[in-house]
Amino acid sequence: MSTAPRFFEQVNRHFDRAARLLDLPAGILAQVKACNAVYHVSFPLRRDDGTIEVVHGWRAHHSQHRLPVKGGFRLSPHASEDEVTALAALMTYKCALVDIPFGGAKGAIRIEKDDYSEGELERVIRRYTFELVQRNCIGPGVDVPGPDMGVSAREIAWMADTYIALSPGEVSAQAAVTGKPVSQGGVRGRVEATGRGVHFGIREAVSHRKDMDRLGLSTGIDGKRVVIQGLGNVGYHAGKFLAEDGAIIVGILEREGAAYRAAGFDVEVVDRHRRSGGSLLDLDADEKIAGGAEGAAGLGWDCDILLPAALESVILGENAPGIQAKIVAEGANGPTTADADEILNQRGILVIPDMFLNAGGVTVSYFEWIKNLSNIRFGRMGRRFEASSNDRILRAVEELTGNSFNGDTFARVAVGADEEDLVNSGLEETMVSGYEQMREMALFYGTDFRSGAMAAAIGKVATAYRERGIFP
Ligand code: NAD
Repeated sequence: MSTAPRFFEQVNRHFDRAARLLDLPAGILAQVKACNAVYHVSFPLRRDDGTIEVVHGWRAHHSQHRLPVKGGFRLSPHASEDEVTALAALMTYKCALVDIPFGGAKGAIRIEKDDYSEGELERVIRRYTFELVQRNCIGPGVDVPGPDMGVSAREIAWMADTYIALSPGEVSAQAAVTGKPVSQGGVRGRVEATGRGVHFGIREAVSHRKDMDRLGLSTGIDGKRVVIQGLGNVGYHAGKFLAEDGAIIVGILEREGAAYRAAGFDVEVVDRHRRSGGSLLDLDADEKIAGGAEGAAGLGWDCDILLPAALESVILGENAPGIQAKIVAEGANGPTTADADEILNQRGILVIPDMFLNAGGVTVSYFEWIKNLSNIRFGRMGRRFEASSNDRILRAVEELTGNSFNGDTFARVAVGADEEDLVNSGLEETMVSGYEQMREMALFYGTDFRSGAMAAAIGKVATAYRERGIFP
């Protein structure tokens, strides 16, 4: 039996702290906080050896103040109703904070992915999708699942294909699921979106001189020492983009253990090594800790930025006093318990909360949903027009000045934005404005960033209910 704190209770403690800052009636706060519905499904799986196993899955709809509701689904042996409910609540607050017009949802299937063959996994995903269809828990206007822990474009493609097969004639059927491969209606940039958003969020944080002075850090990412927990989708991409900006990835924690090297690791090399069957423990390192649970001690390694990007409830009341990082950047959902959060805040550590920092995934999923509804690739209508406009402007400048641009300048300037440019630009805008909003709220209320972000989100959800006439 796990002794981990109940996850939804932790999210609600964060909620309560922020709610105390707001002048809203208790009834409205109670409605914003409550989870509207949780569906539990169980179904049989015929394993490759002919035996039958019962698989459990969930889908939680935390808030339908905006529709569709949106949230990933995960494959995890620890999945539970408590976990999906907490994650769905975080989706509500995340979408509200960064102005993504969705309610919050989350799903999970309780399996250890590595124990199943590809065929078995496909049967599980297709059946889970069928169960969601039966309960009206999936569809472009009701609930749009996407990827989360243990789910890649492959699983999403199975889900999308099942939904489309069950929805004959529904022209927007592709918009029922996001995170699809580009060939199946996905959007360019979705795979790396959460990690890219984490990079943009950290870049904003370290650009504020006053905040960095308080922490005794210089501004800018260059030279910052980073420890990452979880080298999966979020951790790998965040680490890669941070390193491209000059950060030094001094520590990595994974399932098999943890490794520290002051000179830094190349995350792309480490990722390739692990994918080809290698372990963190065979790397050349200054310090190594064997074992996933023991490896968590690496969270206390000396660094500037600690980036938990694996799972929830890893920074606890017990280990928070030993965190040496000046900044805790929450790539994962719910990595810090409420007790730990208080300790980190008291110690003056800057916590960039999950509900802001990992919002890049849902942001780009929103773009994918829009692309599927409009049935056209971003940039298709305007790209060539933009390129020829730029070309005409450059030629006019040449005529006016009598000087000519060289071929390189033309090639650089006379281009139109393609889908990936537009997606990344929309993502950057979302993360930059989300950060400013969160920081302003925190400064206004004289509080930490999590409470500032949560207060902004609660206010927006309450306003949405009000606008719909649900509250006076
Ligand atoms: P993932 O499955 O791609 O990666 C998770 C990584 O963590 C894996 O490499 C796994 O081996 C590692 N891991 C698992 N248990 C560990 C442990 N005890 N110690 C160290 N490492 C461990 O999952 P992901 O999609 O990168 O999600 C990671 C976190 O980010 C989750 O909390 C998820 O909810 C959150 N998140 C993901 C997205 C997304 O777009 N994928 C968006 C927002 C938030």
